[in-house]
Amino acid sequence: MISVQQAINLLNNNIPKSKKNQLSLLDAQNHILADDVVSTINMPPFRQSAMDGFALNIHDSLVYNLIGEIKAGDSHKMELKPGEAIKIFTGAAVPDSANAVIQVEKTSLNGNRLELNETINLNTNIRPIGEQIKTNEVALIKGTKLNAASIGFLAGLGITTVTVYKKPSIGILVTGNELVKPGNNLEYGKIYESNSIMLQAALIDSEVKKSTIYEVNDDFLNTKNSIKKALNENDILLISGGISVGDYDFVKGALNELQVETLFYKVNQKPGKPLLAGKFEDKLVFALPGNPAASLTCYYIYVKPILKKITGESENSSTIKKEITHNFIVNNTRSQFLKANFSDNNVSVLSHQQSSMLNTFALSNCLIHLPEGNYELKKGSKVDIYHI
Ligand code: AMP
Ligand code: MG
Repeated sequence: MISVQQAINLLNNNIPKSKKNQLSLLDAQNHILADDVVSTINMPPFRQSAMDGFALNIHDSLVYNLIGEIKAGDSHKMELKPGEAIKIFTGAAVPDSANAVIQVEKTSLNGNRLELNETINLNTNIRPIGEQIKTNEVALIKGTKLNAASIGFLAGLGITTVTVYKKPSIGILVTGNELVKPGNNLEYGKIYESNSIMLQAALIDSEVKKSTIYEVNDDFLNTKNSIKKALNENDILLISGGISVGDYDFVKGALNELQVETLFYKVNQKPGKPLLAGKFEDKLVFALPGNPAASLTCYYIYVKPILKKITGESENSSTIKKEITHNFIVNNTRSQFLKANFSDNNVSVLSHQQSSMLNTFALSNCLIHLPEGNYELKKGSKVDIYHI
């Protein structure tokens, strides 16, 4: 049995190579740019009015002669002599011969006679060509995560598609004769199948929107065939259950027969001891324990960070330190992940830590990682937490 750190290291040494994908801007939301994006235009593309008001060719009097109008979107050009003004609107093209725009609120207009309430400096309220970005400049560098603002920024440069790191396709295979889909009658001996939707939700939190669910009963041949199909159709396979040592746990045997290389099997941790990670060609397989809290814990500690790396997210340490709000006795030969709640600098362990229970996991916002051993943590001691 290996340690948590050894398991993490093994996975880090076997991360599949990130693939690139060209996506339309909106589809690329929450993806990481795989290449720099270069602007092919100046932004703004022309001298642009920042106000509703009057474009002026400044002279040394406050009185101007109004000779016309340019609205946003107009393409006609006008020539202003010193002392002449045109009415102009926010976003409209300022004529080359105009050298300032005065806000309408700072003027009074009588027929064609425009009087300024105050003097105005050259270039006031005119956005210069390329003020935001110039042609051939890099708009966003490789490694940037696309959010609403970056998508708007790129669309404003006329860009319609970008090259990003591909989100892996993920299969979720649930095993177990006892499982019934929520919405159906629960016969004696059965339980509702909840791991598939839980893992789907966790994947959505990890910004992997689509995953495919496969279901299989506790039968060796069916398990093997389902794993084969799911591996064929996905980049990453998450298997739930069937990985312990029971007579009806067929996942390990099926993976072996399918020549999936075991990176590790069994980690010295609680919950989640039976975790297996495997490799098949450039694909990864995680066989997660069936107990829901163990399954989700393994997802957060092992799967989530790997997904981040495959999808090009920059590395930042997955753990941070917080002060525990109460004394806590550790008496365990396995390293533990405890459902907990943190706020500011503090963290508290929650009740109901059993691997079959999600009731307090549902209220927790982190997992505390406690190394194995016999020791007492005093209130105020620093512990490592993983955000979930
Ligand atoms: P296993 O790892 O297959 O031995 O399952 C361990 C425990 O988790 C058993 O009590 C199962 O009934 C339960 N379990 C397994 N798969 C699921 C699932 N998909 N949803 C909810 N509970 C499950
Ligand atoms: Mg089972």
